[in-house]
Amino acid sequence: MSDLYDLLDLSRDASSEDVKKAYRRKAREHHPDAGGDEESFKAVTHAFKVLSDPDSRARYDRFGDDGTPSSRGAGQDPFGFGGGGFGGIDDVIDAFFGAGASGGGFGGAGARGGGGRRRTQPGRDVLVEVELSLEEVVTGVRREVEIDVARACESCGGAGSGDGAAPERCGTCGGAGQVQRVVRTAFGQLATAAPCSDCEGTGRTVSDPCPDCRGEGRRPTTRTLEVEVPAGLEDGDRIPVRGEGEAGRQGAPPGDLYVQVRVAAHRLFDRDGRDLTAEVTVPVTQATLGGVLRVPTVDGQEAEVPLPAGTQPGDVLTVRKAGLPVRGGGRRGDLRLLVQVEVPTRLDAQQRDLVARLAELRDEETPAEGSGLFTRLRGAFQR
Ligand SMILES: [Zn+2]
Ligand SMILES: [Zn+2]
Repeated sequence: MSDLYDLLDLSRDASSEDVKKAYRRKAREHHPDAGGDEESFKAVTHAFKVLSDPDSRARYDRFGDDGTPSSRGAGQDPFGFGGGGFGGIDDVIDAFFGAGASGGGFGGAGARGGGGRRRTQPGRDVLVEVELSLEEVVTGVRREVEIDVARACESCGGAGSGDGAAPERCGTCGGAGQVQRVVRTAFGQLATAAPCSDCEGTGRTVSDPCPDCRGEGRRPTTRTLEVEVPAGLEDGDRIPVRGEGEAGRQGAPPGDLYVQVRVAAHRLFDRDGRDLTAEVTVPVTQATLGGVLRVPTVDGQEAEVPLPAGTQPGDVLTVRKAGLPVRGGGRRGDLRLLVQVEVPTRLDAQQRDLVARLAELRDEETPAEGSGLFTRLRGAFQR
């Protein structure tokens, strides 16, 4: 018998929320509908059952497991491993966690989750993307975003009824917003709730639907919103704008808008957290003698960077605080410059003589016959 914590990839101090999350993940992975095998599915379900109940978890922690999934009779198992077909994984998970548990996230039109809806189902959340340049990450920026989303119908004030009457209880579901249905699962029969199609899960209908929104209380619109994008955001960050998502049906609360940031690649700089990196190429003479480099920064300024005499290819020069700001303020990151050294390829006679003279003064042989070649190669790999 495997360790129940191991089965769910959990540590011994996992919270009950961790247990739920782990089970949801594992159940999806092992559910036969998703190509998993039945034994593994039963095993993780058993682990969840033991670990999700504080009493049985405490008993397991002290005494270990007292039964394997296969040795337990269906009668003592509340989920009834009765065999037969499997229900959809969402049905199973909803049955454990309550309707709607498997839903969530961002949906397309009407794409919210597989579970039932609560009576005052809010409008959906909406995700839009904005692309920022690295320069805009430094300064922060105000951006206009265009969103296609349903907003409250102005004709009926969002209530959905043409005569202004408040919505009434739906006759089909009795106002519950859900209809019960029975599915066959690995555990036997489960009663699950599905959203009522007549009222779309709200439990309410209007007798005199508003002609402009057909009783929905909301209409499709295209809107432009101005969004404040703070400095220091990273690729994939989301800015929440409360209440600017889809309007709820018949006056239910609206969802939220999320503005997701995408940071465009930069011509010169790569991002490494709050640091920036770039390559600079200097002539071999300058690397040898040293000097001062003038490099552009992401602010559109120039920074002067001391280049030490004898700088080697692969050395890194750091310009403090020329990186990116951190979200919410704090010290800026650095700009790190990787030095490449350019070896001249075309020398005129005079230049060639000078380099030859240099080699002579330094007792440096041409490598064709010297044993120094391999020493130098090895040095290159070590860097
Ligand atoms: Zn209904
Ligand atoms: Zn209307």
